[in-house]
Amino acid sequence: MPHAAWPRIVFVNEAFVRLTGYSRNQVLGQPCSFLHGEKTDRNELDRLQLAMACGEPARSEQLNYAKGGGSFWTDVDMAPIRSKAGDCTHWVFVQSDLSRRPRPGSDIEHLAHHDELTGLANRTLLFDRLQQTLAGCARHPIFCGLMFIDLDNFKEVNDAWGHVQGDQLLLEVAARLQTCVREADTIARFGGDEFVILLQTLGSDPAEAAANAETVYHKIAALLAEPFQSQSLQFRANASVGINLFGQLPTTVDEVIRHADLAMYQAKNAGKNTYRFFDSDMQKMVDERAWMGNELRHAVQRQQLSLHYQAQFDVQQGLIGAEALLRWSFPGRSLVPPEVFIPLAEQIGVIRELDRWVLGVACLELARWATIPAMAHLVMAVNVSSQQFQLAGFVDAVFDVLFRTGARPDRLKLELTESVLIQDLPGVRRSMAMLKAHGVGFALDDFGTGYSSLKYLKQLALDQLKIDKSFVADVMTDSHDSAIARTIVTLGHSLGLQVIAEGVETVAQRDFLISIGCHIFQGYLYSEPLAANEFEVFVRFQQQRANAQV
Ligand code: C2E
Ligand code: MG
Ligand code: MG
Repeated sequence: MPHAAWPRIVFVNEAFVRLTGYSRNQVLGQPCSFLHGEKTDRNELDRLQLAMACGEPARSEQLNYAKGGGSFWTDVDMAPIRSKAGDCTHWVFVQSDLSRRPRPGSDIEHLAHHDELTGLANRTLLFDRLQQTLAGCARHPIFCGLMFIDLDNFKEVNDAWGHVQGDQLLLEVAARLQTCVREADTIARFGGDEFVILLQTLGSDPAEAAANAETVYHKIAALLAEPFQSQSLQFRANASVGINLFGQLPTTVDEVIRHADLAMYQAKNAGKNTYRFFDSDMQKMVDERAWMGNELRHAVQRQQLSLHYQAQFDVQQGLIGAEALLRWSFPGRSLVPPEVFIPLAEQIGVIRELDRWVLGVACLELARWATIPAMAHLVMAVNVSSQQFQLAGFVDAVFDVLFRTGARPDRLKLELTESVLIQDLPGVRRSMAMLKAHGVGFALDDFGTGYSSLKYLKQLALDQLKIDKSFVADVMTDSHDSAIARTIVTLGHSLGLQVIAEGVETVAQRDFLISIGCHIFQGYLYSEPLAANEFEVFVRFQQQRANAQV
């Protein structure tokens, strides 16, 4: 590890003097490491020094020591100042005291009813106000509303950028929400990234009340859509919002909140960044989901699952492989689409069992293909959920399956989504490297819909990017989507990755994709996902056709 000398301090501001207890004179000329002490994290310091040696900005949370010996946590942001010639002449360190988050007043009464971070009402105050509102509605039946707001990507911001930025975002969201409602309304922070707004007197007619609630929603959505800027980082904080109109029928505080929460889940299921009203049909759907979850727990053991295989084509080489796609059929129902049951399986923790089953069956099939000359060259792509990939024993489980089934590792490709990449990057890299060392390939699925961060892409041993089908669908009609597709192809190739487009349905889409340099395709234009035996027939047919053309 290179150890650049820490630069000497040439200037500090008043806040620095207050925070550390040192006078300016005591500080100027000291190396800026003089605040470090026994418990300051050495690895973090090494990291900062490395950045400094490379002349790159860096950021860290550090334990520093004040003059009296007391320690305090700071968020340190360090950036180089360069001369015209580009040499680094100085460094600017901005440190924020993490123990001094904004606190709303100090009296105990206030603290008992307000959220410490944002100063908004807390649950207790919200429940009180809701109780009062319900009592008022019993006397003068009128519609009021409860809005349940859940940020769509807060966890990712927190995981990726740290809790300091996460808190900053919550503070900013709280400030924006306050500009959307009237004085009489109550905004509460309900939990982590959940906010609740109690809207008073929305009207006596349900349509009028709904329209007023929608207006508030649109104000909120517009304000949240504005990017949040924190130092050099930019975030977006879309939200899913559930709205429950109440007041005309007897109800309870718990029920009002629970129904708004259910409506919020509906908004999430509808693709996030939107809103839903609660109604009684919703309750039916919730019951149905619970029932379906129960059924899903038994799906493996009741042999209700199967794999379908969808061909992947290279314009030059022809058929090169297939993606294994899971199907669930249970008596009395038509096939349940994976878009319904995979998220459900993730929520109720069954996904690991499903993924294990999928990997086992896919590898068995892969071993069978190896015995059929027309199929021996095909690569099998298998979807792996983030949860599964992060399991401690995942890598061993893959090796175990390969060993048991006799499938060739270099014919197996695992499809990950971007969500896997932001959780434990070093862990993900290690797992990928171990699998890769044995020839297992990796594709990044649904590319473009998640973080699409260069930082992750560069660090991972990927082989392939998959352009998400949502961009392919509109590539001919939406200039945005065609620009995105073009960017992904350029980006992928510049990183030495293959780029495959999924969801290719028309010749026009394929030709456009070819024109921008994408040569590998998957989609209904070539074949739908097929059962194992149908896929085999399909491959043989393709081969005959290819032979006939030679
Ligand atoms: P995915 O991995 O992005 O898979 C591609 C999806 O696009 C498949 O949907 C496929 O049937 C569909 N598709 C293929 N060609 C076309 C086309 O030309 N047009 C359109 N509109 N769609 C096309 P499917 O099979 O319903 O799977 C949906 C998602 O469910 C998959 O998206 C994947 O995220 C997940 N999934 C499927 N099987 C598994 C599995 O075994 N394990 C896990 N963890 N997830 C799976
Ligand atoms: Mg996939
Ligand atoms: Mg995909």
